[in-house]
Amino acid sequence: MVFENRGSVALISVHGDPAVEFGCEEAGGQNVYVRRVGEELADRGWTVDMFTRQSSPDQPEIVEHQPGCRTIRLTAGPKAFINRNQLFGYLPEFLTAFRQYQADNSIIYPLVHTNYWLSAWIGLQLKQSQVTRLVHNNHSLGAVKYQSSKTIPLIARTRLEIEKKCVETSDCIIATSPQEVEHIRSLVSTNGNIEIIPCGTDTQRFQATDQQSARQKLEISQASHLILYVGRFDPRKGIETLVRAVANPQVQRHQNVNLMIVGGSRSERKDNQEKNRIEAIVKQLGLQDRVTFAGQISHEFLPDYYAASDICVVPSLYEPFGLVPIEAMACGTPVIASAVGGLKYTVIDGETGLLVPPQQDEKLASAIDHLISNPARRQTMGRAGHQRVLAHFSWKGVANQLDQLYTTQLNHLYREFFPENSAS
Ligand code: UDP
Repeated sequence: MVFENRGSVALISVHGDPAVEFGCEEAGGQNVYVRRVGEELADRGWTVDMFTRQSSPDQPEIVEHQPGCRTIRLTAGPKAFINRNQLFGYLPEFLTAFRQYQADNSIIYPLVHTNYWLSAWIGLQLKQSQVTRLVHNNHSLGAVKYQSSKTIPLIARTRLEIEKKCVETSDCIIATSPQEVEHIRSLVSTNGNIEIIPCGTDTQRFQATDQQSARQKLEISQASHLILYVGRFDPRKGIETLVRAVANPQVQRHQNVNLMIVGGSRSERKDNQEKNRIEAIVKQLGLQDRVTFAGQISHEFLPDYYAASDICVVPSLYEPFGLVPIEAMACGTPVIASAVGGLKYTVIDGETGLLVPPQQDEKLASAIDHLISNPARRQTMGRAGHQRVLAHFSWKGVANQLDQLYTTQLNHLYREFFPENSAS
């Protein structure tokens, strides 16, 4: 396929490296989002450079994913893992490295698409100093996150200020759900331009397939009532609530109930603390024979895990969007999710799954019990979920909307800075 060159975009994701394995502490939905958006837009003729921070000396500085789509790692601070709450102080170095990269290559990116508040700070500086349109995805909002966390980090005030400034002064905020728009308007600012473009999933990869053969491949008993969790180990993900729900007599009254937990890094990082904590709870509840920790699984193999499961549970305390439920739904698996954030948008209660209040293991246990007891309902919900993803959440559809947004933004830029050329 030959495409015209549509323009150059810098996708900035300081802490979410799009070229690493997904599913570990610092590699979740944002990494997947940036990578997929980059690839899809390159397919449509955009030149996409995805800038991130180098976090290990072994990482190559440039990774070419496909023609027109690269990850470029800039040096900002030590080439080592740094928790996102400690990254702010390294942003000036990242900005200098980005500017240097532009100077070395004699380019200015006319369109900068930033991800998460750390990258927003970079985008805001660039917008002040060069001819650039700025679009931004929050991925997570401090104002919402801090409401549901027990501890507030020192950086909270800075984050809230930057998020507000970004909403008010960037050219477009991309919200991923109507719930996010509501949060921005009620908790951050009533000013600024917001457009809703959801996250997506690869509907070629995540497809509805036969449960029996998926179980054969994964050596899972056909008699099992399999409940699946996929995601990072992070207290905000609510894995403890799920484990306690599985231990509940309403669920334990069924035979062969198993919980599979997929995700987690192999290193000694912070997410291991949460993993150790969950393992201890599993042991305390006497569930060792019922719970499997499968570790990090790549997208290549994840569809079999979704297809093999009867229910996928997303028990988050807070979830800005949540890729896992749409992946599960794409595979025809019904989802039980917390009634929070973007989950209220992706999962239709009673239609593609069930919504339950967060952190209430009794209520979650009732929902699991209900779906285990009703195979026909599971099947109907699975089919409805699959259809919903095809209609609203395919990467192709999402990328088409972004393509349009980028084009509009570039047109604005040319009209603003080169009015004489755009008059014709
Ligand atoms: N993921 C993965 N392997 C794993 C665990 C998770 O590839 O072992 C992926 C998962 O498929 C999804 C992403 O990590 O695409 C998690 O995104 P989500 O938006 O659900 O949560 P986040 O990590 O952004 O909080």
